[in-house]
Amino acid sequence: AIDVQELHKYFGENQVLKGIDFEVDAGQVVCVIGPSGSGKSTLLRCVNRLEEPTSGKIFVEGVEVTDPDVDLDLLRSRIGMVFQQFNLFPHLTVMDNLTIAQTKVKKRRKDEAVQIARSNLEKVGLANREDAYPAHLSGGQQQRIAIARALSMSPDLMLFDEPTSALDPELVGDVLGVMKDLAKEGMTMMVVTHEMGFAREVGDKLVFMDGGVIVEQGDPVEVLADPREQRTQAFLSKVL
Ligand code: ATP
Ligand code: MG
Repeated sequence: AIDVQELHKYFGENQVLKGIDFEVDAGQVVCVIGPSGSGKSTLLRCVNRLEEPTSGKIFVEGVEVTDPDVDLDLLRSRIGMVFQQFNLFPHLTVMDNLTIAQTKVKKRRKDEAVQIARSNLEKVGLANREDAYPAHLSGGQQQRIAIARALSMSPDLMLFDEPTSALDPELVGDVLGVMKDLAKEGMTMMVVTHEMGFAREVGDKLVFMDGGVIVEQGDPVEVLADPREQRTQAFLSKVL
């Protein structure tokens, strides 16, 4: 679970998050939408301290992320993150991409790491590609590998920042399918996305951000069909 309280973030003079409050319960999928520059990525990156919050508190599984003494390596090993750009290690095979952090950070034995990697490759439908290099895979396959890599760390929750935005349209469905399966298995997920269909179908909650604040949040079906706030209506009329 994630609990964000009164989160503020400045980049120099620029106030990017202006008091964000929200929760993601265990097993929930929360989708975050909003215009470019509204602070979606910054919010997500504050959750695993890739960005330093200026003020406010964030708790992940009851542990205060914003505590200056928090063990960042341990924290990050519990939070899987998937980016728009897949960020696989280009010089490593798929299997090595999936096992390197398991052995180095989680201190798993190699054979155990390989076994876990194989089960996650199967989960994302790429069991037969363990010897491939990233450059020989399509964007959609690379993103599914990136998801399998994150899952191989056995995270408590997963953060996704526009995971399908860099993909050719015909490859988007496979990645969303993997994410949907993950949601069904009960993974706690926070997903920044432009895929309104996914938000409606899979999301438990939809958060609309604009200008560094949460303008509106609620049941995705309700927010998408009948937004209360004018700013949400204006945004949705452009993207739906
Ligand atoms: P997009 O939909 O384009 O990804 P976003 O909602 O994810 O947008 P953020 O990337 O969080 O928006 O950016 C919010 C604001 O913070 C923008 O004005 C951006 O220029 C600024 N910003 C983000 N990262 C930094 C940084 N590292 N240094 C300075 N300013 C930053
Ligand atoms: Mg962003």
